[in-house]
Amino acid sequence: MQKTTEELLGLRALLDNVGAHIFTKDLQGRYTYVNRLCAEMWQLAPEQCVGRFDNELFDAESTRKLRENDLKVITSGIAQENEESNVIKATGATRIYLVVKAPIRNEAGDIIGICGVATDITERKRLEVALAQQSNLLNTVLHNIEANIYLKDHEGRYVYVNPRVANLLKLPTSEIIGRTDVELLPGNIGAEYYSNDQKVFETGTKMTMEEPFIDKDGNTRYYWSTKMPLQLPGQPEMLIGFSTDVTEQRALRMELERRANTDALTGIYNRLFFYQVAEQEFLRSRRYGTSMSLLIIDIDHFKSINDTYGHHAGDVVLQAMARHCQRSVRDCDTLARVGGEEFAVLMPETTQADALIMAARLCSSFEGLLMAMEPKDISVTISAGISEFRASDTNLQSIFTRADRALYKAKRLGRNQVCVDE
Ligand code: GH3
Ligand code: MG
Ligand code: MG
Repeated sequence: MQKTTEELLGLRALLDNVGAHIFTKDLQGRYTYVNRLCAEMWQLAPEQCVGRFDNELFDAESTRKLRENDLKVITSGIAQENEESNVIKATGATRIYLVVKAPIRNEAGDIIGICGVATDITERKRLEVALAQQSNLLNTVLHNIEANIYLKDHEGRYVYVNPRVANLLKLPTSEIIGRTDVELLPGNIGAEYYSNDQKVFETGTKMTMEEPFIDKDGNTRYYWSTKMPLQLPGQPEMLIGFSTDVTEQRALRMELERRANTDALTGIYNRLFFYQVAEQEFLRSRRYGTSMSLLIIDIDHFKSINDTYGHHAGDVVLQAMARHCQRSVRDCDTLARVGGEEFAVLMPETTQADALIMAARLCSSFEGLLMAMEPKDISVTISAGISEFRASDTNLQSIFTRADRALYKAKRLGRNQVCVDE
């Protein structure tokens, strides 16, 4: 007898300390035993629970469903597992349980009640719902965003691509995963992407870059890519990238740059661009002590051309002048229209003496050129001034001032000639 009591106490202690709600009920639905966790849920002492019905402990709807499940066990005689959502009267809280209920039989085998074990899965359910919502949101973003999104491993093999990448490569996702850009893309593009990716792994930082892509029609498109290392728990480090098509914006930017740098009438560079290049070349000459010459050309008596033949004829002469100069300069020279009828040529690696030969040829050939134009009797000459970089020059302006002085001298000496700064 002593042993049985000890066993019973031991069992009670066990049931009170297990992390589940445990109870027994009679056939009418009265609780005949509840463990500590059950009693605490109702904010009662375990002995206060015995003899109570569910309707005293749960709201009406919960009670109805609980009784339904209990009766299934009683009538079938078979254990049942159910998810039960209960509103607890004492706290007003809704908790979700995974409940296993089984019949209790007497020695004769008749069912005299049920026993139940309920595990609280409220938190798990909440996490499941939150996870499903997050996953749904993420999928919506990945499927609809106007960007290529991808994960690659250290060897450049794709681990994930969003549907946009598959669409772009015209391949099912399964044929992209595990392969590299070198395998998937034409020419050197794959190698270029690989090299960019490796820089991200090497630096361990987020990087942005413009990357070309050849589309299915052979056209080059441009993507603006943001790439960074990604360390997911329990996985080797990967690279995550986002690339958006910026082809149109790039073309627009280049067109804007071109317009900002060129003169609308003649199509050659404008004054602003010329000064930028000249500044760079000046710094280069100063650093390396290389020669550099500046030529400034001004059309003689241009006002009278406008006056005699009209403004349009003046414009035609300016265009002819620009074409003529363009043909005469070397690729490394920079030609610009720096004023109304004033042109400038910046000649790196050129001495004043060489610049003079080039300018004299330019001047003498210009007259002949205009003979081929309408109206036939236009006669135009040009004057030019030349200066060269000196080691004593501390700023670019000194070179321009000397070239202007030389030009003024050419005008004073009767025009249609080239003078150098002495
Ligand atoms: P000089 O021999 O001393 O250089 O005499 P010039 O008549 O050329 O004198 P100046 O340089 O002062 O005159 C420049 C003229 O160029 C004045 C302006 O009417 C004309 N001009 C400036 N820009 C344009 C243009 O875009 N188109 C035309 N048709 N004429 C222009
Ligand atoms: Mg002028
Ligand atoms: Mg002039």
